[in-house]
Amino acid sequence: QPVLAVVGRPNVGKSTLVNRLLGRREAVVQDTPGVTRDRVAYDALWNGRRFTVVDTGGWEPDAKGLMASVAAQAELAMHTADAVLLVVDARVGPTETEEAVARVLRRSKRPVLLAANKVDDQRGVSDVHSLWSLGLGEPMPVSALHGRGSGDLLDAVLEAFPETPREVFGASGGPRRVALVGKPNVGKSSLLNKLTGEERSVVHDVAGTTVDPVDSLVELDDEVWRFVDTAGLRKRVKTASGTEYYASLRTKAAIEAAEVAIVLIDGSEPLSEQDLRVITMVVEAGRALVIAYNKWDLVDEDRRRQLEKEIDRELVRVRWAERVNVSAKTGRAVAKLAPTLRTALDSWDTRVPTGRLNGWLSELVAANPPPVRGGRQPKILFATQAQTRPPTFVLFTTGFLEAGYRRFLERKLRETFGFVGSPVRISVRVRE
Ligand code: GDP
Repeated sequence: QPVLAVVGRPNVGKSTLVNRLLGRREAVVQDTPGVTRDRVAYDALWNGRRFTVVDTGGWEPDAKGLMASVAAQAELAMHTADAVLLVVDARVGPTETEEAVARVLRRSKRPVLLAANKVDDQRGVSDVHSLWSLGLGEPMPVSALHGRGSGDLLDAVLEAFPETPREVFGASGGPRRVALVGKPNVGKSSLLNKLTGEERSVVHDVAGTTVDPVDSLVELDDEVWRFVDTAGLRKRVKTASGTEYYASLRTKAAIEAAEVAIVLIDGSEPLSEQDLRVITMVVEAGRALVIAYNKWDLVDEDRRRQLEKEIDRELVRVRWAERVNVSAKTGRAVAKLAPTLRTALDSWDTRVPTGRLNGWLSELVAANPPPVRGGRQPKILFATQAQTRPPTFVLFTTGFLEAGYRRFLERKLRETFGFVGSPVRISVRVRE
């Protein structure tokens, strides 16, 4: 989601305006005395569009003096946000500090909006004209206190943002899409037959665009699911020329078409390279994942111990995925699949509110700062969850974060917020 950075000197009413923009959906955290919380980020929603509002903090004179600290804040805003909002007290008019900031912001490649605050009534409107001199375009009169003009300001903010890419899976509704994948002979068709045959409802064919019906609707645990691209499975067509390449293309297409994948593995045989490849495909496609070990009726104590070792050795990177041990033959644990799919999809859909995310992150980073690189300590400024499906986090930093530290952050994210059954992505935007 796009980021709006709000800049302004103390007492212009910046915090009041930020609260206004948020519609008080998230309580703005008060600064704790003694704790420098120089940036806070919150979620905002206007006209159905989500964005992140970052309060860049007051312009406090630091060692280098007020001007330098102000210019640094403006630079930071320009480099991290998709749009910048400068808040000025219209009753005071542009100060020297604001003129300095405007000089920096005029070089911005990102859109800059100018809010003339404290225009509480009609009389105040004449104060606004003096702000044209900042060279940032038309000042927008607002009263953060009374709410006057804030709707127009929000409209202008949305217009300033770049177009957002449309979500791949919109609120399309309908049954959730499942891919049942795995290498040949692990028991995919047997499992699908079990699921469709023994559950209360029978398979319905869903007409595809081609002659073949492609998907199957299956009722599991009082919910209808769409198992995608099951034509080959149901008819048990074993292609004569059944090349692995073709199978792998088909698997890939099924995963792409689905929201969650069940990767079926033959539990009675050693874990293979091919099994791992299918798991990798799911993770790379960013789909939710359930791992099912089939043919559990054939698994004895010895095999079981061996299997535990394989899991520890080969499946550590997908430790977050739930495993179910099933038997398509006896029906063992097949009923566990639906709740497991649901958990994975819930994680895949999860959105962590920006305020909560940043509260958690600032504590974590204070206790475990990123490793120093090239003599410099990278600072994590703030974070936002840019997307769901899968949950994707963007960290705004002053420097490169090592892969090891990113993995640490992911592990901690999972410890706190769960995400069982879903991949999680973390990307880092370094302020240039
Ligand atoms: P697919 O290629 O993944 O669709 O696998 P199939 O469903 O065709 O199954 C391959 C073979 O494994 C068949 O001979 C099945 O009867 C057998 N099979 C499938 N599931 C089980 C199971 O849970 N237990 C046992 N013992 N055999 C199974």
